Amino acid sequence: MSTGVERNPRIPLAVPSFGEREVAAVTEAVRSGWVSSASPATTQFEEQFAALLGMPRAVAVVNGTTALQLALIVAGVQPGDDVLLPALTFVAPANAVRHVGAHPVFLDVDAATAQLDGDRASAYLRERYRRTADGCINRTTRRRLGAVLPVHILGHACPLLPLVDAARELDVPVVEDATEGLGATLAGRPLGCLGDIGCFSFNGNKLLTSGGGGMAVTARADWADRMRYLSLQAKNPGLEYVHGEVGFNARMTGLSAALGLAQLASFDTHLAAKRRIAARYVDGLRDTPGIGHVAPAAGVDSAWWLFTLLVDERQAGLDSRALIARLDERGIESRPLWQPLPASPAFAGCDAESWPHAAALCRDGLSIPSSVALGSEEQDRVVRAVQDAVGAARA
Ligand SMILES: *Cc1c(COP(=O)(O)O)cnc(C)c1O
Repeated sequence: MSTGVERNPRIPLAVPSFGEREVAAVTEAVRSGWVSSASPATTQFEEQFAALLGMPRAVAVVNGTTALQLALIVAGVQPGDDVLLPALTFVAPANAVRHVGAHPVFLDVDAATAQLDGDRASAYLRERYRRTADGCINRTTRRRLGAVLPVHILGHACPLLPLVDAARELDVPVVEDATEGLGATLAGRPLGCLGDIGCFSFNGNKLLTSGGGGMAVTARADWADRMRYLSLQAKNPGLEYVHGEVGFNARMTGLSAALGLAQLASFDTHLAAKRRIAARYVDGLRDTPGIGHVAPAAGVDSAWWLFTLLVDERQAGLDSRALIARLDERGIESRPLWQPLPASPAFAGCDAESWPHAAALCRDGLSIPSSVALGSEEQDRVVRAVQDAVGAARA
């Protein structure tokens, strides 16, 4: 007996894609007993991930938020410092900034790309901060700038090169949150490798998942060594339990690493699937009135992690939240973009320039199903549902 549910299963936003390789890898980890962070799989995952990005060093940790927190620490961010980051991002990087005791300074994003604008951010940096013998200091508040933290969102790239130049001039480290941009390049270079240290997450909805997990890549061997040390309770080498500083219990488990290694083997195919899905959405929705999408900046080869529509309510006849409801009625999961962080209760009172673009993107944006395994028939269902919702709203 077949039910409507079976004929028309719900289409999720972004779910992982596993095969027999993943099953075998996790089974083998359990069979061998190598499940903890002492597993050789964790080191192997670091080596293969570093090789994927062409970076000398990678450090694997329990999740992406922790990777960011430890990266900020090894980059020298101190309690009381400022850290620059975009107003529109998943909350993790802002939490990491607060967890090291630093102050987020939120900058607005570009209206079309939804990313921090590298030119505007570098102008802000040069205008508000100056280099002194005691570091880079805010001209008004006298607070030290500990780092800049550009975040690549939705699979596209923040055009950060001018910001990296300005940070170099001011002698401020660049910590890149490249989680959503894994696989994308800017000017031919992989995201996460353009600043001083790049962070990634392997949460379940990311392009590569290890269940939970995070990684930092860097060319700075001293930073990588300290990050690994901090992640292992800062235990000094040798038999005795001697701890050089206050550490963390944050190293990735072998069980996670085994899953991550298996996922690495499918990375190219999964990335190609994301790009194919995006191209098909662009094509299918081209002539739908009032329906645009977040698009990459020039020079970006995007990973298209989550395909995100932008709804012009006047043209489409309905707003993004109404479209989310219409899609939900047809068994299609979609999700709004994040509330601009300076508007959120958790970051009320933090320094921020005004954020009209972040607010407009949050108002108009919704991400639609983008799983690697999304089939073309399912995708056609999504496209038709969007077209029907707009058609009905305009009638
Ligand atoms: C998912 C995500 C993270 C955090 O990763 P977790 O592994 O969930 O801690 C950080 N930054 C961005 C931009 C993300 O999308």
